Amino acid sequence: MKILFIGDGQLGQMLGGSAISHGHECLLYSTRSEKVKPLSAQIELSRSLAEAIDWADVVSWEHEDIPADVIAAANDKFLMDPARIKALTDRRTEKKLFDDCRVATSPWRSFNTADELEKYLADADQPQVIKAARGGYDGKGQWRFKLTDNPASVAQEAGQQPGIVEAMIPFSKEVSLVGARAKDGSLCCFPLITNVHDRGILSYSLGAIDAVPASWQSRAEEAFRSITNALNYVGVLAIEFFVVGEGDAADLLVNEIAPRVHNSGHWTMTGANCSQFDLHIRALTGMPLPQLRVEPTLMINVIGAEQIPAGLWHHADTQCHWYNKDPRPGRKVGHVNIRTANRDTALQWVGLWAEKLQVLS
Ligand code: ATP
Ligand code: MG
Repeated sequence: MKILFIGDGQLGQMLGGSAISHGHECLLYSTRSEKVKPLSAQIELSRSLAEAIDWADVVSWEHEDIPADVIAAANDKFLMDPARIKALTDRRTEKKLFDDCRVATSPWRSFNTADELEKYLADADQPQVIKAARGGYDGKGQWRFKLTDNPASVAQEAGQQPGIVEAMIPFSKEVSLVGARAKDGSLCCFPLITNVHDRGILSYSLGAIDAVPASWQSRAEEAFRSITNALNYVGVLAIEFFVVGEGDAADLLVNEIAPRVHNSGHWTMTGANCSQFDLHIRALTGMPLPQLRVEPTLMINVIGAEQIPAGLWHHADTQCHWYNKDPRPGRKVGHVNIRTANRDTALQWVGLWAEKLQVLS
């Protein structure tokens, strides 16, 4: 098949690699330069977007912030209603989807003005997180409110644009579920992934390392089913959860969803018989979803570093991925997957390397 991906960042490149290995052809459309590009080369083709859409059998995306004119032009080639996906770029409609699907999420309100936000903060009886409705990623566009803070001054800063205010969740850990839904509604999910953030940015993920109660997996997959059914979704989607409490009695609260392949699923490039990128291509092209086999794998993000040290490229248990981006503090420029026996050895790797690989500010 011929696949056009909206977006030409690292996720688009990795999706393209999978498309090729399945015998498909692909082109990427940069929403930044508004040019069509081939895979892997930073070359702009003379082909217009309309021609690329005409060429493609199917259009997919690496990021959900798809410009309205692109949605209009490619409408017939998307496998599902892109307007619903676009709605997920606004935290208000995203949270409403969770409520509509009856999946638990942190209690939230939306606000339009600083005055409205100030009122909610003044009434709060527990700490709050304020998130801009649009444009946030890697912890950007977020503010924290403690009960000892002054509601008016926090609202002045955080209420400059519409957003949501939600309860700060005292989570015991953060996990994500990465999976795919096929056109016939069947699902295929990886085991829950443990994620550790540093200053709002994903630092590392433990793939198939933590044994979690079976009930967490089934509840997470139930949430996945409700949400992807509601979206009539085809392809890979990720759900981030806060876990509150321990063991079977713990609550899983949905934090946010990413209607695409996700950073916390990068370990599957090394630790699974079918990576999240391959899974997306399979779902997109109507191939059967696989039976998954996974192996314990740590993924450490490379953030703001100039390079990945040679020792890591050299090691037999590692797979390094460099995104060909200019490094700057806080910017994800690569990741390293490490085959590791268990949580203890994974955390030893983190202790040895995270600081060298991550320049956050
Ligand atoms: P991403 O890089 O995943 O797109 P983001 O900027 O969109 O991140 P969130 O995932 O909402 O934003 O928040 C980033 C991190 O901040 C979360 O993973 C979590 O560690 C922390 N966080 C966000 N909201 C809350 C909350 N309500 N309670 C506690 N911690 C929170
Ligand atoms: Mg997040």
